[in-house]
Amino acid sequence: QNAQESEKTEGSSEKSSKIGSRIRVFVRLRPMSKKEKEGVSRCCVRIVNRRDVYVTEFANENDYLRLNRLRGRHFTFDASFPESATQQEVYSTTTSELVEAVLQGRNGSVFCYGATGAGKTYTMLGTVENPGVMVLAIKDIFNKIRHRSCDGNHAVQLSYLEVYNETVRDLLSPGRPLVLREDKQGIVAAGLTQYRAYSTDEVMALLQQGNQNRTTEPTRANETSSRSHAILQVSVEYRVRDAAMNIINRVGKLSLIDLAGSERALATDQRTLRSLEGASINRSLLALSSCINALVDGKKHIPYRNSKLTQLLKDSLGGTCNTVMIANTSPSNLSFGETQNTLHWADRAKEIRTKACDANEDPLPVPETETDQAKLVLELQKEN
Ligand code: ADP
Ligand code: MG
Repeated sequence: QNAQESEKTEGSSEKSSKIGSRIRVFVRLRPMSKKEKEGVSRCCVRIVNRRDVYVTEFANENDYLRLNRLRGRHFTFDASFPESATQQEVYSTTTSELVEAVLQGRNGSVFCYGATGAGKTYTMLGTVENPGVMVLAIKDIFNKIRHRSCDGNHAVQLSYLEVYNETVRDLLSPGRPLVLREDKQGIVAAGLTQYRAYSTDEVMALLQQGNQNRTTEPTRANETSSRSHAILQVSVEYRVRDAAMNIINRVGKLSLIDLAGSERALATDQRTLRSLEGASINRSLLALSSCINALVDGKKHIPYRNSKLTQLLKDSLGGTCNTVMIANTSPSNLSFGETQNTLHWADRAKEIRTKACDANEDPLPVPETETDQAKLVLELQKEN
């Protein structure tokens, strides 16, 4: 059985996994929760060789005992993380390359997708003891800047927003909803707080606080169900000299996105407000799936305008951006349907091609006086 599986893996392994050419897709399986362990829950997802995911459906215990696992559905991703994978491992494999590119002025984005309780927020934000991708990325950015010994010349700025019920809110400074506008950088939320960050320590507290500002509501199916999408954007700006020795300004932007639970709104039977929210969540995720479909099919028109989420993710999906998707799943057969749904979309996302990714560079205004010119040269000499 194992020999057969590894043969299959090798056969399908040598697809390009370079960033910039297509969305890279990962799967992360979380450990069984206490509740799942206590119930009559069995593991229905298995990861082999850190790439292949086997999902098997079984209706009852007899099925499970007779299980011929090879009959299950099989998917292959850029990498798949078993329950035992650490936050650092997930960060290094999925996001560290993107951070490197961001420091060269290229944009990157990572988004977590999956049902409520599948481990999206744990992967993105994590806990104080086990910080997730958002915090590890910022830590890495500060470390890399320090190694270049020119931190004085870098500005690291953060913004953190949520899309809830088609309304955009600032998570760092909650208040009135924000309006989306189109400028030369793309779609931006007008008035969004840009927080200048100087160290990782302050950032963890800031993000935890921001996360508490996220809209979460109790529902019948889950104790707390996050119906909001959260987007953290980290921009790194600095000056360099180009090949012709002109001074240029470089900006790289990393977007880290914790999507709302992808479970069907119909799974919870609460009506009124809840059903409106459900429809709206569906609208955003539905819009996301139609964009993915249109991109995969190579359509000319991609329906980004159908939701706030897809407007904000426009550059992450089809633009000039290195994009990574992490599909989170529970291992339990109680979540079989959701897991299959999540893996189906993850599998489809592998087909999306992104455009070639150029650095965001702008020449600086020509210095007015010789003293200004001399100052800039001095600054650059300090850098190198
Ligand atoms: P989601 O954001 O997808 O709704 P969470 O990230 O909140 O799900 O995860 C649900 C629960 O499972 C949380 O209590 C979280 O701490 C735990 N959990 C998720 N992933 C892991 C993991 N890889 N290791 C340990 N605990 C995890
Ligand atoms: Mg969450």
